[in-house]
Amino acid sequence: MESSQTTVLASSNAIVNGKLTPATIIISPSTGKIINVYTELLPENSFPAGTVCKDYSPKVLMPGLVDAHVHLNEPGWRTEWEGFETGTRAAAFGGVTTVVDMPLNAIPPTTTVENLNLKVNAARGQCWVDVGFYGGVIPGNDGDLKDLVREGVRGFKCFLIDSGVEEFPAVSTEDIAKAMTALKDEDTLLMFHAEKLPPISLSVGDAVLHGDAPLAPAGPLESYSTFLASRPPAFETYALAEIVNSAPVAPNLPLHIVHLSAVQCLPMLKEAQEKGVKITAETCFHYLALAAEDIKDGDTRHKCCPPIREKANSDGLWDALKDGLITTVVSDHSPCTPNLKLVGGGDFFQAWGGISTVGLGLSVLWTEGKKRGVDLVQISKWTSEETARQVGLLGRKGKIAVGYDADICIFDPETSFKVTTSEMHFKNKITPYEDKVLDGIVCETWLRGKQIYSKDVGFDEAAGPLGALLLEKRQQENETVAITTTLSDSSEDLKTSSLNAAGTVLEVLPN
Ligand SMILES: [Zn+2]
Repeated sequence: MESSQTTVLASSNAIVNGKLTPATIIISPSTGKIINVYTELLPENSFPAGTVCKDYSPKVLMPGLVDAHVHLNEPGWRTEWEGFETGTRAAAFGGVTTVVDMPLNAIPPTTTVENLNLKVNAARGQCWVDVGFYGGVIPGNDGDLKDLVREGVRGFKCFLIDSGVEEFPAVSTEDIAKAMTALKDEDTLLMFHAEKLPPISLSVGDAVLHGDAPLAPAGPLESYSTFLASRPPAFETYALAEIVNSAPVAPNLPLHIVHLSAVQCLPMLKEAQEKGVKITAETCFHYLALAAEDIKDGDTRHKCCPPIREKANSDGLWDALKDGLITTVVSDHSPCTPNLKLVGGGDFFQAWGGISTVGLGLSVLWTEGKKRGVDLVQISKWTSEETARQVGLLGRKGKIAVGYDADICIFDPETSFKVTTSEMHFKNKITPYEDKVLDGIVCETWLRGKQIYSKDVGFDEAAGPLGALLLEKRQQENETVAITTTLSDSSEDLKTSSLNAAGTVLEVLPN
């Protein structure tokens, strides 16, 4: 059933064209797309009777977040860890309107078209927000990659180090070259979990002369510092060097580093970009907002790989974001059950590595970012526009602009809340943010023109999960549709925006 009413969302504060501005957003009832954006507040009587008009001033209208890195784990036995229904519900709570699911942890992994179809069928009818899928590169599946591109995966992920799950083995240099060869003329993205064990002489230095085993934990296993020392920055720099060295195999294929943690990678990343290597990087909410110095021994809720590093390291990551060297921030939401996370004090080496964050990220980033002079326009760029670009959805997602899906987050930056289990909609209520007070709260989430979540009334259970599965080809922004209009624009613009000479909207036709 299609709603027949045009919807108008407005606020004195909206993020449009990379600026905070007053805006009035007109949404088609039939397509759920934005059909006009006025960079001013239009009075309700500008619109025909029956139009649904909502003015949220002074709350901020932002594009819905595109979380380009989540693990939803379904289908298979790890659905106990997370699933499409709970993971996407948690996303909607936090103003996230699109998530892209990683190819591992579900069984089977997304390494063939057959396996992708199993995942797509498992997702149908369960998703509260729109969901895209990545394919996986593992040893020996280079023959499956082009077919996965045709079927609509938004990119590929591989590991240069043990992934933690046996169905998704790490790739060798030769495997990377085969994957790059297969994908070199495709419109896709090849992403790397960039940690790799350096050769023994590099990894342990002089210690090898004394017979110490490389990487053997040197300290109590429940101590965070022991764990941190076991995943040094050298793992990340060594992996990055390998990726950059492989890049000439497929010079046109965009490469991407997932969850970059170590600042030691940044000079190498910069140099590669300056030399024309098509390589980008993301970091995660937890590397920006949490610090090794604050992690108590045994608090395995903080375990992830690469690890959360020292405060000085997170300062460097913030600087790299501000400079545009790192372009995206994602959750890497990767939960498990409490017993596997060893909640309540445990061995960092035995606990599952992964942090649950989906739906908390915007407030996490705002809480930390505003202390660092970062504004919501920057945050929106890193979590919506650039993540949409990363997964080939810019043009449809990631901006408030004409022709885009009306995926809108209504954010109140002036309110705070304490994270309790009621704010955790993911399946297993475990997160290092528990009991932390976060600034800024998502008041409403709109997906393709429909309100799917509101802080006051909760989720629209009557409508149920309305999320679509995003299996269309990757696209990039068509600049010609990304226009906005003001009443003072030229007569040509006035004609196209259905205004009469008095500046009143005569009719807003659903297209
Ligand atoms: Zn991940």
